[in-house]
Amino acid sequence: MNGIITDIFRTSIVDGPGIRTTVFLKGCQLRCIWCHNPETQSMKIEKDYGRLIDSETIVAECVKDRIYYDETDGGVTLSGGEPLMQPDFALEILKRLKELGIHTTLDTTGVAKISIYKKALKVTDLFLFDYKVTDSKSHFSLTGSRKEPIMDTFNFLISNNAKIILRCPMIPGVNDEVEHLTTISEMEFKYPSLVEINILPYHTMGNAKYEKLGRPVDPSLPKENIPNKLKEYYLSFFKIRGNKKVILKD
Ligand code: SF4
Repeated sequence: MNGIITDIFRTSIVDGPGIRTTVFLKGCQLRCIWCHNPETQSMKIEKDYGRLIDSETIVAECVKDRIYYDETDGGVTLSGGEPLMQPDFALEILKRLKELGIHTTLDTTGVAKISIYKKALKVTDLFLFDYKVTDSKSHFSLTGSRKEPIMDTFNFLISNNAKIILRCPMIPGVNDEVEHLTTISEMEFKYPSLVEINILPYHTMGNAKYEKLGRPVDPSLPKENIPNKLKEYYLSFFKIRGNKKVILKD
């Protein structure tokens, strides 16, 4: 089965447990203003971002790194974009990997149909689930998507015993208000089955891609990576509240 990807990235240590191969699928319904993978948003091949590839080739590429997965409890992560924008392609890759005994992780926004997540549950060991903005109106204006259907998906996955790492991009002055941090903190206690909560500090590494695509970087975004002092503030915020599962990722 054919699909469109932008990259197969080997030896990743930021997309789930252990050493992983991350496959970036094209297509995303959201338009987060801070997106650092803007080249994955469109389903079209643009500039030199994107190539048509069949699922068996991807699986064969992933299998080459099996020794790393076995030694580090790693595996393969599908990311994007939103991998489930190409549902049959994504599910086929996950199914084949599971048949080969390889750990599978799906990095998802939660916007696909529940019927697709039902299928994904059968072939996904771990979900990386984005939690971006607490206030519903701000969620829509900052991501271009309503929050409620995303939370319906989250609740569906929780109630079906999915293993989930909550992933929270943190953008100073954009979504890091106290209400949002407090809600993230409370989610650890409200959903005890959560494996981890990852705080993902904003960085400017995606800016060069905007330039290449001929698109402007949103002017409301910070001009620099998050300073260490702010990272320390986030960590102490969660520590004071007794959070044990919140981890700051770099
Ligand atoms: S969900 Fe991810 S890929 Fe899609 S626009 Fe937002 S940050 Fe970019």
